[in-house]
Amino acid sequence: MRSALAVALVLSMLLQGCLSGVGGAIDDVVPERRGIPGGLALACLMDDTYTSMVVEIDHAPNRAPEASTVDLLIERLDEVCTKPGGITVDLQETEFDDLATWTADDVRRVALETRAAPPQDGDVLRWHILMPEGTYDDESVLGVAVNAADIAIFGESIDASENILRRPSAEEIENSVAVHEVGHLLGLVNAVYESPRDHEDKEHPHHSSNDASVMYWAVESSSLGAIFTGSLPDTFDEDDLADLADLKSGAIQATDQLWTP
Ligand SMILES: [Zn+2]
Repeated sequence: MRSALAVALVLSMLLQGCLSGVGGAIDDVVPERRGIPGGLALACLMDDTYTSMVVEIDHAPNRAPEASTVDLLIERLDEVCTKPGGITVDLQETEFDDLATWTADDVRRVALETRAAPPQDGDVLRWHILMPEGTYDDESVLGVAVNAADIAIFGESIDASENILRRPSAEEIENSVAVHEVGHLLGLVNAVYESPRDHEDKEHPHHSSNDASVMYWAVESSSLGAIFTGSLPDTFDEDDLADLADLKSGAIQATDQLWTP
């Protein structure tokens, strides 16, 4: 009996040794899972854990978002995400590294350096938008969504996309690009699910085939001036909204989620 106990004790010490090694690794070494765009879609759509939401916008001194962009982001998120504690925008003027061009990995790295708190912060869901000087390494790109909670919007490229008639204006373009990138964080279109509605543009994956949806591919492209001569879409269309409603209700299965109910 005593020897059995001794063996058990030694075994448990050995096991503890192993486990504490693993535990230490989880605490110290294993990086945070930052996910893919759409990876925190359910966390936004539902309120089981995250009852409120903050959109942190870190902008270069001359790149503050238009007030209309801030208002529109809150309005669009509020239309689809359940956040009884409210959705707010936290604006932070930020001195970024002096990068003339940004890669997706630059966006990932700088987003980690500048954010005030992680995306899954207690009962607060935090999405994060960078608005730096400079352009994306593909200059035709006006905005990108990387990871489950990180976006960058390139004001310099937006300004350059405004045509001489200012139709659409740089302000309108910024409005639509911001909603478009947030749409990617919501998983649109077919990024973390398979829609029963046929509305994904086969030529441009994860974009809507409807040019009246904010998720139309050209909305985040500098070629938008050649495609839209009047106003730009800044709303999710019926199919986008139906996808989000189905994800929320569980009628469509979501994949790659960093949080599930
Ligand atoms: Zn897009």
